[in-house]
Amino acid sequence: HISSKPPPTPSPLRSAKFFQANMRILVTGGAGFIGSHLVDKLMENEKNEVIVADNYFTGSKDNLKKWIGHPRFELIRHDVTEPLLIEVDQIYHLACPASPIFYKYNPVKTIKTNVIGTLNMLGLAKRVGARILLTSTSEVYGDPLIHPQDESYWGNVNPIGVRSCYDEGKRVAETLMFDYHRQHGIEIRIARIFNTYGPRMNIDDGRVVSNFIAQAIRSEPLTVQAPGTQTRSFCYVSDMVDGLIRLMEGDNTGPINIGNPGEFTMLELAETVKELINPAVEIIMVENTPDDPRQRKPDITKAKELLGWEPKIKLKDGLPLMEDDFRTRLEVPRKN
Ligand code: NAD
Ligand code: UDP
Ligand code: UDP
Repeated sequence: HISSKPPPTPSPLRSAKFFQANMRILVTGGAGFIGSHLVDKLMENEKNEVIVADNYFTGSKDNLKKWIGHPRFELIRHDVTEPLLIEVDQIYHLACPASPIFYKYNPVKTIKTNVIGTLNMLGLAKRVGARILLTSTSEVYGDPLIHPQDESYWGNVNPIGVRSCYDEGKRVAETLMFDYHRQHGIEIRIARIFNTYGPRMNIDDGRVVSNFIAQAIRSEPLTVQAPGTQTRSFCYVSDMVDGLIRLMEGDNTGPINIGNPGEFTMLELAETVKELINPAVEIIMVENTPDDPRQRKPDITKAKELLGWEPKIKLKDGLPLMEDDFRTRLEVPRKN
């Protein structure tokens, strides 16, 4: 029996070239610390074309120098508080200063970046039908009243404090993501990132790991902010990037905590840095800043179950990798 149906005619749009089309990925904030490591990973896949949009507030072209001029890479100086008209398949929306000294420097700009910036990226996602991932933060849990924090916890956040531009900003960003999802059917992903460290962190950004490592290398006292018993959980940046990509590629909207559950007091962290980098250095207690969360540790059950993800790099192994990068940038070689 011969089918009476005519053979399918290949449409020009369905040519091999069309089907092998690259995945075009926008990374906002891609010149920053986590963003540039994410770009490195995405660029490893030859099917990916990566576009970075960044205003260089806390990021730098230097973080992307190995990709500038690459045919699958494009860098745009752009502020996400302004509309952006491009064609993409996926958006990793990271643009936002992450370190307290930078986000408190211009709090109005920080909240605009979180609210108007996220609105614009959602408008873009809606127009082109792209999937969008927001890097939210553990700060949405504020000074948490439950420990460890799982995603169902609504948080304990001061709406009028000096950190509010950041943590309330991210909370609104999450709300916008879900409203666009429910109202317009946008495919969304929300990662709640816990403290992340690694090479390319700004040396003087005031965050604890970068401070302690720079201080130890410069043989300056390690400044533990009182009381020193407050805790954090630190995730190495390659683990973070792996988690973000799994979340983007998977089927779950989140929010999903991505972080390392290993919990340390700031005094323990100072002792560890001292032991690994400079046993001669002094540890001193200094005044803290307002609204400093007393404890923070992710419950990563969801990430394990839904993404098959958990961090691999222990703090003791990650710190020396960061030390190498800081020594190169500070031009202080290791003593033998
Ligand atoms: P980062 O400051 O190194 O990177 C942020 C990038 O965004 C920078 O390149 C900066 O220039 C850019 N940017 C800021 N405002 C912008 C604007 N209006 N328009 C365009 N670009 C803008 O910070 P990071 O540590 O890489 O953080 C990346 C993301 O992860 C942020 O959204 C942050 O809130 C989130 N996050 C980070 C941590 C962490 O521990 N590093 C923890 C929780 C959440
Ligand atoms: N937007 C953008 N790029 C686009 C589409 C929209 O930056 O490709 C911005 C747009 O300027 C607006 C925001 O995203 O400020 C929200 O867009 P949406 O279409 O959802 O809302 P509206 O324009 O109707 O307010
Ligand atoms: N911290 C510290 N010494 C420093 C910088 C920070 O002891 O030089 C403490 C700070 O009080 C906080 C913790 O380290 O309890 C983490 O601070 P960071 O600013 O790195 O991140 P976040 O507060 O956003 O978690």
